[in-house]
Amino acid sequence: MSTHRDLLGVLVVFATLLCSPVLAQTEECGSFVRPGEVAGLLLLEDSGIYEGPETLALGNLDVPLTFHVVRRSDGTGGLAQSRLNQAVIDANIAFASAGIAFFQCGETRFIDSDAFYFDIDTTAETNALRSTNPVPNTINVYFSPNVPYCGISSFTTSSVQGIVMNNGCTATSSNHSTFPHEIGHYFNLYHTHETAFGTECTSGSNCGSAGDLVCDTPADPRLGSGNVSTQCFYTGGGTGPCGGDPGYSPDPLNFMSYSRSNCRVRFSTQQDNRARSTLVNLRPGLLSGCTPPNLVSIAPGSGFLRGGTAITLNGADFASNASVRFEGVTAEILQRIGSTSIVVATPPGASEGAVDVAVNQPSGSDVLAGAFTYTQNPVEISWTGSGVRGSNITIRVYGPANARVGLAVGAPGMIVKPCCTFCLDRPIDLAVRPSELMLGANGEAAVQWQVSGADFETKNIQGVVVVPGVGPVVTNCQSVTVFP
Ligand SMILES: [Zn+2]
Repeated sequence: MSTHRDLLGVLVVFATLLCSPVLAQTEECGSFVRPGEVAGLLLLEDSGIYEGPETLALGNLDVPLTFHVVRRSDGTGGLAQSRLNQAVIDANIAFASAGIAFFQCGETRFIDSDAFYFDIDTTAETNALRSTNPVPNTINVYFSPNVPYCGISSFTTSSVQGIVMNNGCTATSSNHSTFPHEIGHYFNLYHTHETAFGTECTSGSNCGSAGDLVCDTPADPRLGSGNVSTQCFYTGGGTGPCGGDPGYSPDPLNFMSYSRSNCRVRFSTQQDNRARSTLVNLRPGLLSGCTPPNLVSIAPGSGFLRGGTAITLNGADFASNASVRFEGVTAEILQRIGSTSIVVATPPGASEGAVDVAVNQPSGSDVLAGAFTYTQNPVEISWTGSGVRGSNITIRVYGPANARVGLAVGAPGMIVKPCCTFCLDRPIDLAVRPSELMLGANGEAAVQWQVSGADFETKNIQGVVVVPGVGPVVTNCQSVTVFP
């Protein structure tokens, strides 16, 4: 009896092993075409939506991504933001030829769950993860360290939408291709070795109705590390599946193949067009997705007309590619702090006074009218360039808008005049008189000087700005060492 029981137990265990959906090792990709999906996908094919002309003019289409990072239940672990940022860069490089750009919409969201962190091994669990707080009209991407595939995506016809990425296959030093590959599926690109629609002849005779249904990707017998060399050449040989077929000559560089991850660097032109058509025709909500920015306050509220003042903008829903403008002039971004703060350096102003500050991103813009005031520059001089003899340095003088300014370069010393005392003496190498030079509307003027003098000699630079209502004001003193 006990022997019977043991045998039964062994059989049950054996049967469980045979039927279990648990995969022993990580699969390249979970997004192949299931038999039940073929008919629906072929209907789309017949509808002609992948054939141009596209409904939007050529130009970059911006697509928002929502990132969901799975952590342990105690909030530890999870993919670092730097890797998420790299994933966006990888996707943007991959889809540049298709005219599609990606940005992270809103802050990274966290799912603190041991179950999703340690134990995703069935389709149902993958779909449960992909159904967790998705943001509409964005591509929702979920990152977990323990999933039985490098990535899985969804076609436009899939019942559950979204991408799950294995952390270990996301933007690593040797893998910048799995994330673009999964986005490719999201735009209805199939594996170059896909056989659900039929096996593609190497002659290309059935390229529109078999394989990946794309005709400028050659027939692919299914690539892998076993038939692609480390130099990314196909080494598998083999004859085509149809009568009179030439040998296989697949493209190991194509993103939608199973080639080595570091070899996959390109989409074909027809893949580009198909991805763009899918976006425009079948996923148009992505093009208006993501919440518009909400600009609440800026600090400090004033700075010099010359620009370069660090200003913090506070608010909500700033996208990772939001730009900031002062009266229409784009400011340099110094730092982004989540989706709630952006630190910028003010651009030079056109005139003193209050200007509008705006945040712009693909989902919209927000403006604070008259939020920043440009104030009169302090009287100041600076220079940039190299002190090597014979090269040109640029001397910049700052002060009130449209003020007259003079400056001189000479040996260190002292020149005393009725108005002012300078840190210069003779010989004078460069002299610009106030009658010859005026500051611009932004209170700045630039003068070039070709460096001259003996080896390691010091030259001093100083200016004087005629401030309206005040009179001549001498600038700070700057020194240049002459290098041979
Ligand atoms: Zn795939």
